[in-house]
Amino acid sequence: LALQEAMQEDFGPLAVVGVPCQVDGVRLQQNSSIRLQVSDWYRKNITLTFGLFCSESFTNESIEKLGEIIEEDPATIENINIKGKVIIRLDNKEVKTVSLKTYREWARPACLYCLDYGGENADIGAGGIGLDGWTYTLIRTKRGHEAFQAALADGWLETRPLSDEPRGEFLMNKLSADKKKNRPLPPLMPDFETRKAMGSLCPKTFYTTGPGAPKADEEDTE
Ligand code: SF4
Repeated sequence: LALQEAMQEDFGPLAVVGVPCQVDGVRLQQNSSIRLQVSDWYRKNITLTFGLFCSESFTNESIEKLGEIIEEDPATIENINIKGKVIIRLDNKEVKTVSLKTYREWARPACLYCLDYGGENADIGAGGIGLDGWTYTLIRTKRGHEAFQAALADGWLETRPLSDEPRGEFLMNKLSADKKKNRPLPPLMPDFETRKAMGSLCPKTFYTTGPGAPKADEEDTE
């Protein structure tokens, strides 16, 4: 149910599940004092938010590109999972993999400015990093804690201690810290064709090791 539709039908209470920038959109509405009716509705009806861990998302054209790389019709791609590499499941259940470095060229440039890996403004952050069949879960607010405990008490969830999965914690810390190195401003990322001409397609490295990296004398003045 789209939020706009839920608002028109005054449907609530709702939980919102989204990547961190989508959760931020909800929080901005909840804290805005510009359109009071909308803000009031968001505050009253969106009672829980889940932030899905996110390093970047990809453009629509990336699906076409993936099809080319694996030499399959893009329409046959059923599922794409990213776990250090891109794991593609086709509708005939065949699984193919592609290097993340290659696929990252089709990341949305807007993600370059994003500093939030772990859904920092959500009530609960969650993702599958480094885990097989389990979800790494971070309870971030009192409301998130209450919801999680209620689900646990009702038998909807099974838990294991974090200490069982040191790799998950390592990745969480690393990926969160990596994201903080992104540059939120200025939004001057050249478009895909321009970066192609510059020979620097990956938006993740454009401002770190690519042509947009600060020159030595710029760093000295910061
Ligand atoms: S990396 Fe991109 S898709 Fe993910 S939260 Fe940030 S802006 Fe949104």
